[in-house]
Amino acid sequence: MTALASPVTDPLDIERDAPIPTWFHVGGRAERLVRPASVDRLRRALEIDPGLLVLGDGANLLVDDDGVPNLVVALTSPEFRSATIDDATGLVHAPAGVDLRRLITDTVRRGLAGLEVLAGIPATIGGAVVMNAGGAFGQIADVVERVHALDRRGRSLDLDRSQIAFSYRHSGLNDLVITAADLRLRPVAPGDRGALRERLVEISDYKKRSQPLAAHSAGCAFRNPTLARDLRLPTGEEFAAGARVSAGLLLDRAGCKGMVEGSARVSDVHANFVTARKDGLARDVIALIDRAAARVLDRFGVRLEREVVIWSRHRP
Ligand SMILES: Cc1cc2nc3c(=O)[nH]c(=O)nc-3n(C[C@H](O)[C@H](O)[C@H](O)COP(=O)(O)OP(=O)(O)OC[C@H]3O[C@@H](n4cnc5c(N)ncnc54)[C@H](O)[C@@H]3O)c2cc1C
Repeated sequence: MTALASPVTDPLDIERDAPIPTWFHVGGRAERLVRPASVDRLRRALEIDPGLLVLGDGANLLVDDDGVPNLVVALTSPEFRSATIDDATGLVHAPAGVDLRRLITDTVRRGLAGLEVLAGIPATIGGAVVMNAGGAFGQIADVVERVHALDRRGRSLDLDRSQIAFSYRHSGLNDLVITAADLRLRPVAPGDRGALRERLVEISDYKKRSQPLAAHSAGCAFRNPTLARDLRLPTGEEFAAGARVSAGLLLDRAGCKGMVEGSARVSDVHANFVTARKDGLARDVIALIDRAAARVLDRFGVRLEREVVIWSRHRP
C-alpha cells in the first residue's frame, strides 16, 4: 500500500511545554516545539512563526529560566540526520541535523581529511556552520562549499561559499534556517590513512587536556577579542593593537577562575568556561558571564563579546 503524502497545510505535530536540551543542563522550556519531518514541513513551521528559533545540539546555547514563547524547531527527524559521503571525490552532503562528531569519525575512517581539525566540538552541522565552529587547528568554513537554507519567508537559498561572509566564529547566516551544507573533504592516499586517524586522536587528546569537556557549559563563553589598543598585563605579557587575544587568558589574568554566582562557576581548568551545576539556574550563569566581562573591562579596558547564545524573553 502506498502511503498518502500529507498535504503541506496539515497542522504540525507541535509539542507543548517541551524541554530544550542544552549542554548547560539548566534553563527553561519551549512553549511550543516541533520536529519537522522534511524541508517542506520546516517551511510550514516558518509560516506559523517566522520568528522561530532553531535548536541544534544545544552546545552553544543558554535558555533563560522561564523559557521562550517562540516556536522552537529541532532538526532531529531522519531526513535531517543522515549525510551522503562520496569517498572518491570527498564531497559530503550533510543535512543540518547531522551530528558533527559522528561525521568526523565517519569521514576520517573513510580516509577523508578536513573535519578532523574540529575533533571534540559538540555540534550539529547547522549549528557548526552558523557559528563557524573551530579552534586552534581550523574552522568549518575551511571545508564548506555550499550552504542550503530557508529564509524567514520560507524561500529556498543555495549559497556558494563565496557568498558567505565567514570570519572568526561568524558566518552572517544567523537569520536563515540552515537545512544542509555541502562540504569538500580531501581523500588521502591509502598509505596516509593511519596518519589521519592519529591526527584525529592527537587533536581530541589536546582538547580533553585543555578544556573541562565533562562540565556543564557551552564551551567558551566569550569570543577572543581583537584589541583596539596596545595592552600590557600585570604579568608583563604585552599585546599590540589589532592582535586577537585569548579571552581565556584575559579572564585568567583578571582572576576570574573559580568565581561563583549561585549555582554557576568559572572553571578552574579554563577561565573562558562558565559551568552550571545540574539543577542550577540559567540566571546564575547569565549573571556570572556579565560579572566576568565587567571584571575584564575594569582591569584591562577590554570589552568581551559573548559567544554563548542566550534565548530569553527578557534579553534581545
Ligand atoms: C564542551 C564544549 C566544547 C566546545 N568547544 C568548542 C570549540 O572548540 N570551538 C567552537 O567553535 N565551539 C565550541 N563549543 C561551542 C559549540 O560546540 C559550537 O558553537 C557549535 O557550533 C554549536 O552547535 P549546535 O548545533 O550545538 O548549536 P546550538 O547551540 O544548538 O545553537 C547555537 C546557535 O546556532 C543556531 N542554529 C543551530 N542550528 C541552526 C540551523 N540549522 N540553522 C540556523 N541556525 C541554527 C541556534 O539557533 C543558535 O543561535 C563547545 C561547546 C561545548 C559544550
